[in-house]
Amino acid sequence: MARIIPPQGMKELEVKTRTGKKVIRAGKDGLFNIENPRLAKKLKEEGLGEAGLNGYATSGGYPCSSCGFGSWFKKCSRCGELNERIEMDSSSG
Ligand SMILES: [Zn+2]
Repeated sequence: MARIIPPQGMKELEVKTRTGKKVIRAGKDGLFNIENPRLAKKLKEEGLGEAGLNGYATSGGYPCSSCGFGSWFKKCSRCGELNERIEMDSSSG
């Protein structure tokens, strides 16, 4: 299942299926839970983003200082390097 981040303010998404139309409603977290992988792929092709495991995708995480891989985990899944957490500073102003 994919969790698709809707355009701001969008609560419902109407999609065409082989049998007609289907309305997908945003969940409590504001994301569309898409069970059909083909539909999820289509939505992503149309420019919608997919949320990460912890909700909305952010640019935080553990960018690897060794190989540059954008790892979500402290230990780089590509080269095994241990990295420091990068916190995004949102308190400007
Ligand atoms: Zn690495």
